[in-house]
Amino acid sequence: MSNPEYTTMAQEIILLKLGELVLKGLNRRGFEDRLMGNAKKSLRPFGSFRIYSKQSTTYVEPQDESCDMDGAYGAMCKLFGVAGLSRAKACEKTAEAMLDTAKTYLHTTLMEAKSFKVESKRADKSFPMSSIQLSQFVGGELHDAFPHLKVDVRNPEVTVHLEVRDHAAYVHADPTPGAGGLPVGMGGRAISLLSGGIDSPVASWMMAKRGVTLEMIHFFSYPYTSPEAKEKVLDLARILVPWCGKLTVHIVPFTAIQETLMRGAPEDLFTVLMRRYMMRIAEGVAHRTGCRGIVTGESLGQVASQTMEAMMCTGAVCTLPILRPVVGMDKEEIVRLARRIGTFETSILPYEDCCTVFTPRHPRTKPTLEEVIAAEASLDMDELVRAAIADIERVNLNP
Ligand code: ATP
Ligand code: MG
Repeated sequence: MSNPEYTTMAQEIILLKLGELVLKGLNRRGFEDRLMGNAKKSLRPFGSFRIYSKQSTTYVEPQDESCDMDGAYGAMCKLFGVAGLSRAKACEKTAEAMLDTAKTYLHTTLMEAKSFKVESKRADKSFPMSSIQLSQFVGGELHDAFPHLKVDVRNPEVTVHLEVRDHAAYVHADPTPGAGGLPVGMGGRAISLLSGGIDSPVASWMMAKRGVTLEMIHFFSYPYTSPEAKEKVLDLARILVPWCGKLTVHIVPFTAIQETLMRGAPEDLFTVLMRRYMMRIAEGVAHRTGCRGIVTGESLGQVASQTMEAMMCTGAVCTLPILRPVVGMDKEEIVRLARRIGTFETSILPYEDCCTVFTPRHPRTKPTLEEVIAAEASLDMDELVRAAIADIERVNLNP
C-alpha cells in the first residue's frame, strides 16, 4: 500500500519524457494510458511504484524503500514510447533545499562538466519565487560552489532542472535518450517468425518499437535440430520480453513437412517451398490469435531465398501483410542493433536452425510462381499442415 509520507519525500523518482505521443493530438490520452500500463507491468519485478502523467512527463515514484531503483531504471530504458528519461531527487519546496540537493545529487555531473545552466518549472504557482528568480538564485550559488563551471545559457554541457510540483520539488540533470518508438499495443498485433539467427529478433524488436504487440512462432525440426536449438530461441524471446512485454512462443513441429519436402520436392526449390509452408502455418496461427500481420527477418539479397523473386513466391501464400523491417538493412547494421538489444551473443551460439540443416546445394535465386505451384501439386501436404498446427506447443514468457 502506498505510504504518503514516503511518497512525498521519496528519495528518488524516474521521469519519463514521452516521445512521438505528444504529436498525436486526440490520441494522446490513449497513448499515455498505454505507456503507463506498460510501465506498470515492466516495473512489477522491481517493487511497488506509483505512475502518473502530467504535461507529457510520466512520473515513476517508488512507494517504499524496498524498491529496486536501478532495476526500475533499466526497465524504463527499454520502454517503447519514452523519448528521454532521467532519475530525479525529491526535496522540500524551498530554494535552499533545491540548491542543496543540486549540489549533492548532481555533484559528480557538475564536477565533470565545463558549463551549465539552471532551468526551473513551477507547477505550484503559489511558490514564492518566479521560475527566473529561482534559476538565478540556484545558478548563482552553484557557480560559487563549483567555480570551474561557466554559465552558458545557449549551449550548456549540463542543465540543472528544478521542478516545483504539488507535493515536492525535484532536481535532475538532462534526460538520456529513451527507447523511442510508440508504446507496445498502439500498433496492432502481428506474428513474428523467430529463428535462432541474428535477423529475426532484430526484426521483432523493430516492429515492437512501432507499437506492435507480438506473438512469436518458431519452426522446430527435432531431431534434425536439437532441444538446445529450441532453448536458444526461447532465450532470444526472453531477452525480447522486457522490450515487447509478455510473449507467447508457438513452437511448430516441422519435421514431417520438411521430410516430405526432402523426398518429393526439387532440391533447388526446397527452401522457397519450405518457406511457403512456414508462411501458411504462420498465417493460420495469426488468424487464431487476432494478428493482422506477419513479421520476418528477411533482408533483400542476403541469401537465395531472400531475392525479390523468392520473396514474391513465399508472400503469395499469404493474405495478411508481411512486415520485413530489416529488408533494406546491411548485415552490419542489423548486428549493431542486435548488440544494442542484447540478442547478438545468444544468436551466434552454434546451434543449427531447421533452414541450415536442409540447405540445398544450388538453391534457385529466381524461382517463378508457376514452377513453385507445380512442384507443390505433387505433394500431399494438407494433413501434415493441419497436424503441425494441431500439435503446436505454446510457451508463455512473462516479464
Ligand atoms: P535469421 O538470422 O533471422 O535466422 P536468416 O538470414 O538466417 O535470418 P533465413 O534462414 O532465410 O534467414 O530465414 C528468413 C526468415 O525466416 C528469418 O528471419 C525468420 O523470420 C524466418 N525463419 C527462418 N527459419 C525459421 C524458423 N525455424 N522458425 C521461425 N522462423 C524462421
Ligand atoms: Mg535463419
